Amino acid sequence: MVESNCKNDLLSMTKGRLKEVMKDMGCLPYRGEQIFSFLHRNRVKNINEMSSLPRDLRERLSKEFDIPKALVIDALHSEDGSSKYLTAFSDGQAVETVVMDYRFGTSVCISTQAGCRMGCSFCASSKGGLNRNLTPGEMLSQIYLASEMRGRKISNVVLMGTGEPLDNFCNVLSFYDIITDKSGYGLSNRGVTISTCGLADKIRMLADEKRGITLSVSLHAVTDEKRRAIMPVAKKYPLEELVDSCIYYYKTTSRRVTLEYAVIPGFNDDLEDAAGLLSISKRISAHINLIPVNSVEKGIPNTDRKNAERFCDELNLRGANVTLRRTLGADIMASCGQLRNTVITSGGKKE
Ligand code: SF4
Repeated sequence: MVESNCKNDLLSMTKGRLKEVMKDMGCLPYRGEQIFSFLHRNRVKNINEMSSLPRDLRERLSKEFDIPKALVIDALHSEDGSSKYLTAFSDGQAVETVVMDYRFGTSVCISTQAGCRMGCSFCASSKGGLNRNLTPGEMLSQIYLASEMRGRKISNVVLMGTGEPLDNFCNVLSFYDIITDKSGYGLSNRGVTISTCGLADKIRMLADEKRGITLSVSLHAVTDEKRRAIMPVAKKYPLEELVDSCIYYYKTTSRRVTLEYAVIPGFNDDLEDAAGLLSISKRISAHINLIPVNSVEKGIPNTDRKNAERFCDELNLRGANVTLRRTLGADIMASCGQLRNTVITSGGKKE
């Protein structure tokens, strides 16, 4: 796998790490706090803009460190107000970021990897596999760009774009520590949701970190056989192991898990599926989020809204805690990875 070519990336460093760096450079640790604040509160794009640092320190920093630049290379705006941005980093890797406005604030869905190796059959991001992990700074840049584009502070961040966040575990944790640091951007601890396709061992690891991150698990089917048919990850982590890890997450963090369930007509939307989904959700004390499919694969039909509503009603009647996601951005290729793929398949040129 290729690594990011941005070495000594200041944006990816937690406040604690920046203090250590300052100490190593013979400076007092509070300089690290100043740099952190410049980067994540004032969001300077250049070391020279850190005006309260002595000039010689800025010069030394500029020689050894960098602030990675992210560039929006394409943007699509939906009639419903949501936007999708294609953001490129210095090595040319591009990822998608989606911005959505709700009554309670603005939410951003960010990517955590360039590509993905999980291979879910309904997802455009799995085409071409994984190119590389994103650094914490590259995840943060997507939020800062979105904040700039909207001209307001972002209130919620969902790690649900391209990539499997728990497959990039350490970088995702550093990202979380930086974005929620009160002397930086100061996003609320409860404002970050990680969405995983079900890496049971990493769910347990995340629970043990006790960060209180909101966890969302892509279930999409209630038997091993059906899950394996659309999600190769299910071959490694059988349903029982996944369910156990979710129970562990809830018990350890007191954070209720959300089960994401893409309603695929004729595949996972009959009464038996509803009963299985209800039973799993009760065991985990989970909320169910039904998702209408915006398919990229031949053989996986798009969800009929009425069918999904019927499935949702069925679950409601049986006492499930369930909602049906409203489809935002259907006119701008809302399913993750579709915009990125138009660029990859056209050799980097968007028509
Ligand atoms: S749905 Fe998520 S985990 Fe699955 S291939 Fe797409 S990006 Fe990867």
